[in-house]
Order: sequence, then structure tokens, then C-alpha cells
Amino acid sequence: MPISYLCGMIDYLIVGLGLAGISFCEQLEGNSKTYRVIADKSQTSSVVAGGLYNPVILKRFTLAWNAKEQLEQALPFYEKLSKKLQVQLDFKIPVLRRFASIEEQNMWFEASDKPQLNYFLSTTIKKNNNISFDAPFGYGEVRHTGRIDTKVLLVNYERYLLEKELLQQETFDYTCLEINEDAITYKGVTAKKIIFATGFGLTDNPFFNYLPLNGTKGELLTIKAPALKEENVIKSSVFIIPLGSDLYRVGATYKWKDKTNLPTEESKLELLEKLDTFLNCAYEVVDHVAGIRPTVADRRPLVGQHPDEKKLFILNGFGSRGVMIAPTASASLYQFIENKEAIHPEMNIARFTKKYYQKK
Ligand SMILES: Cc1cc2nc3c(=O)[nH]c(=O)nc-3n(C[C@H](O)[C@H](O)[C@H](O)COP(=O)(O)OP(=O)(O)OC[C@H]3O[C@@H](n4cnc5c(N)ncnc54)[C@H](O)[C@@H]3O)c2cc1C
Repeated sequence: MPISYLCGMIDYLIVGLGLAGISFCEQLEGNSKTYRVIADKSQTSSVVAGGLYNPVILKRFTLAWNAKEQLEQALPFYEKLSKKLQVQLDFKIPVLRRFASIEEQNMWFEASDKPQLNYFLSTTIKKNNNISFDAPFGYGEVRHTGRIDTKVLLVNYERYLLEKELLQQETFDYTCLEINEDAITYKGVTAKKIIFATGFGLTDNPFFNYLPLNGTKGELLTIKAPALKEENVIKSSVFIIPLGSDLYRVGATYKWKDKTNLPTEESKLELLEKLDTFLNCAYEVVDHVAGIRPTVADRRPLVGQHPDEKKLFILNGFGSRGVMIAPTASASLYQFIENKEAIHPEMNIARFTKKYYQKK
């Protein structure tokens, strides 16, 4: 049904249905607000994501920004969604960080002694018991980690919204947006507020494209490796994430120039080259996907209200950690709009207001 058939004023119009859009819909459902969603398939980040939630940065052995708080909100959030959609979303799997040297083992021990990190990092070295891996220095185990099946989440949430006639599958046309004193109107739909949750699609948004969203392309392979028999996530120069049925996701790449969602031969070769440095068993590549992570120059989310147009809001900039960030960022935006609670200054787009007036 075209969205224009729906009449009467609704509370919110949401543009985009990735992790950001879904998490904001959930805030609205939890608070009995009326809403509609408009989304196309131009961006693929949430569909192709590895889906890992891991609070530790495994290059430097430090805690990711606000990670503990994010995880505390994220796990019940996905559990609730799982029950609502009646699908399994959360696969709790430890992440094993492969050590490349004795020095790395020592760095791990130092890190695991720190008060914030010792909840997540085990203090013993795990020996490698899988003959398919070359890991002479063993692994450090990160606890309280896992994988959210983002593709299953997206497919099922989309279906849920379609059944409730809340989703219009089309590209948002910015020239059709009318901003009035009390509301916004878009193709016959009147809403009190509009939330843009368009991931890297932000670059087409004339209201918010002053924000420094760089976008980082990522590619992932799926391999079938019947001999591998690994149940943990292995992190070496690439991640290997077990999916079940002898399938494993291998990734990801980080590229800053190419802004397309197309898989490339170059990245495939890069991933396979890295994989072959520590995986010995036979495998075949069965899938290859790509997407643009909505990354920001200062590595913090983009959450808040337009500097001039007070009915326009943004929920974006989740970078490479959307699974963990989406629930807290969406809750924060909702509380800001409805209850005037301050948005954490590091996520608030107010930090870029100067840029807006410079561009104007
Ligand atoms: C290869 C790869 C691996 C990743 N692995 C992980 C991981 O393991 N763990 C993790 O936490 N994160 C991971 N990420 C990052 C994660 O995917 C992102 O942080 C998150 O998905 C961003 O969600 P989003 O909703 O902001 O954007 P998106 O998922 O891009 O969603 C935006 C939505 O808006 C729609 N849209 C855009 N413009 C318009 C328009 N004009 N009209 C209508 N609709 C529009 C898009 O089509 C899409 O539906 C990975 C990303 C990539 C690319």
C-alpha cells in the first residue's frame, strides 16, 4: 500500500532500515508511538555485517568506547527482539585472539590485569587444539562476546513491518519533504518528526551532509571448510566466524576510496592471502559480500537534532560496531527528543555545528 494512503498525523517518520532504523523503531514500539518507515536497499552494511559484538579492540587490547554500557543494553535488546520475531539472533561465542609472538602474550597479560578489561580478557593462554590452525603461541580468550545474525534480523523485521503496513520500500526523495511549523509532510504523510537512519546514504542528504561521514568499505567471504570443526571465533589477521554447517565467515577488509557495495577480486585475494597464513585445511569460497560502514572522522556516532530544522534528527555513524552501539544510541536519541535528556557530548552532532554554519 502506498504510504500516502495512510492519513492522520503520526509521531515519527523513519528513513532507513538497518540496525539504526530498527533500533529506533523498537524505541517507538516500546513507548507506544506511531511511526512509518521508508527504506530502500541502496546500503548493505547491516545485511552483510559479521555481526560480532566484542567490547575489546583486539589490535591494542583496549576497551572500545563506552563498550561495557553498550553491551549491557545490547544483550537484553536483542533477546527481546528475538522473542518478538521468534528467531534466534544471538549466538554466544568466545573470541580467541591468536598471538603472533611472546610479546603479544605479554601485552595480553598486562591488559587482562587492568580493572576494566579483566571482566572480558581471560588471564590464561589457551593452547591451540585445532590441527587446521597454525597457532604456536596460542590464544587469548575474550569472554561475553558473540554474534548477532543481522541478516536474519533485517529480513524478519522487514517482514514484521510489512505485515503491519508500516514500511514503504522506496528511495526517499528529499525534494518531496516539506517542513512546516508543527510537522513535516512527505508524500501525503504528516509526522511530528523525521529520523534519518540511512547509514552511508547520509551523503545524499542535503540537511545533514555537512557531517564528516567518511565511509569505509568492507568485504567478507563465506567459506565451506568441512575439516575445520571450529566453534570459536578466531581473530588473527582476519576474523573467522563459525556459522554452522561447516560454513565460516572470513573478513573483513577496510578500504577508504571505493564507495560502492560491489565485491572486488582484489579484496577477495587479500582475504584469502591472510587466511592462508594460519589456516591449513581445504576450503572453498561460497559467498562474497561488501558494504560501506558508516564511519566518522572522530570514530563516534552521529546522533542528534539538525541545527536549524528542529523536526529533523539523525541516527548514524555506527562505524564498525553497529551491533553494540545501536541500542544505546537509539535510546539516547529517543530520550533526548521525548524527555530532553542530554545526548552524550561525544555522540551529539552538536560537536559539528560549526561545520554546518561554515558550509552554509
Ligand atoms: C563487511 C562489514 C562487516 C561488519 N562487521 C560488523 C561486526 O562484526 N559487528 C558490528 O557491530 N558491526 C559490523 N559492521 C558495521 C555495521 O554493519 C554498521 O555499523 C551498521 O550496520 C550500520 O547500520 P545503519 O543502520 O546505520 O546503516 P545501514 O545498514 O547502511 O542501513 C541504512 C539503511 O538506509 C537505507 N537508505 C539509505 N539511503 C536511503 C534513501 N535515500 N531512501 C531510503 N532508504 C535509504 C539503506 O538502504 C539501508 O536500508 C560491519 C560492516 C561491514 C560493511
